[in-house]
Amino acid sequence: MGTYARLSSPEGPVWVRALDRALVARSASELYDKVRSDTVVAGAPVVGDLLAPAEPTKIVCVGLNYLHHAREMNKAVPDEPLLFLKPPSSLLPPGGVIELPPSSNLVHHEGELAVVMGARARKMDPTDALACVLGVTCLNDVTARDIQRREGRYTRGKGFDTFAPCGPLLWTGVDPHALHVSTHVNGALRQESETSDMIFSVSEVLSFVSHIMTLEPGDIVTTGTPSGVGPLVDGDEVIVTLRHPDRAPLELTNRVRAAS
Ligand code: MG
Repeated sequence: MGTYARLSSPEGPVWVRALDRALVARSASELYDKVRSDTVVAGAPVVGDLLAPAEPTKIVCVGLNYLHHAREMNKAVPDEPLLFLKPPSSLLPPGGVIELPPSSNLVHHEGELAVVMGARARKMDPTDALACVLGVTCLNDVTARDIQRREGRYTRGKGFDTFAPCGPLLWTGVDPHALHVSTHVNGALRQESETSDMIFSVSEVLSFVSHIMTLEPGDIVTTGTPSGVGPLVDGDEVIVTLRHPDRAPLELTNRVRAAS
């Protein structure tokens, strides 16, 4: 089990050991190979800003993957995972500011468990899927709910710049089915669930996605949000937290600001 961060540096983004910011790898693929072969060797510490711990060519998302969330949205439970994409340009680092677009009057938080891929994955069986995962982190699938409802499409309402805060750190070597995810706004609990309560497990989702599109190292698959989604307004602080019994929690903190 390890905890890693991705930092900016003069030579470009690098992966470091979270404990001491010691340089470990220059790509998700390289970090995956070192973690899998147990040959992580840390170099000199890096001074830089935290980035989202991923290098996505795409952010694959699952809708309605918790029973209580499907009910609160008045939606039937899907027979298969409901997929959509967020553009990589929506990615926001931990501590970054979520900008509320003037074209929406109702922006919601959706705190989620996100999986970051370490190896190219295509047509995987569910039993093999976790072997291609580099690690897990938090993601906030920020959504302009009014636009999503009005259009019945997800691309615009979920695709704004800053609508995919992700991080702060990456856990390797944890079972993604045995975590607790929660969301707080201004300190008040809004959402929480065990990840074991998903309708389609992480393994099933990854297998399903990989039969449609090749997953590349650094890609993000975010696994759906529990019930309790609600509005974000100017000045809010939103925190998505991932808990594991043996680790200090991961807390993804972002401020919210109305775009000027
Ligand atoms: Mg979502």
